[in-house]
Amino acid sequence: MHYKLFVFDLDETLWTVSEGLCSMLKPPFNMTAPDRLETNEGFWIELKPGVHKLFDFLKEQEVYISLASRNDHKPTMEILSAFGLSDGLTYPQIGWKAKEDMLKIILRRIKKRDKVTIKPEEVFFLDDWPDNIQPVRKWGATALLYGQDVLSHDELVSMLQ
Ligand SMILES: [Mg+2]
Repeated sequence: MHYKLFVFDLDETLWTVSEGLCSMLKPPFNMTAPDRLETNEGFWIELKPGVHKLFDFLKEQEVYISLASRNDHKPTMEILSAFGLSDGLTYPQIGWKAKEDMLKIILRRIKKRDKVTIKPEEVFFLDDWPDNIQPVRKWGATALLYGQDVLSHDELVSMLQ
């Protein structure tokens, strides 16, 4: 595996949200179907197909997995946890910084903790928003646009094999 770190956006990349931003949803989150949460107001969030398989595949590759999402930290972590996706993430960045700054923070923290230097070209980033992709590509990482470069998480797993 050429990549050492995989970073994913959340909204409209790993899941679909009725309100556009997952941190607009207020707990409690009720699991109404596998991979679907609903709030008491009737808002919902649904994992895209293949996300669990993608994460299982990456964990077998022994690469770092992280997140870069523009959302409020606390509700987002609760949703991740409800979906069983919060374990095994390395310094997930959920806040209001630019995506490329989030990636740099993840690299700095990994270097500090594990003494592992990851180069931009060893980073894979997936996001559904072109404005997030361009600066990360310019920095030197592989940044793919979900919905255009990658149409599904099953396709991504096949691409990486
Ligand atoms: Mg998004």
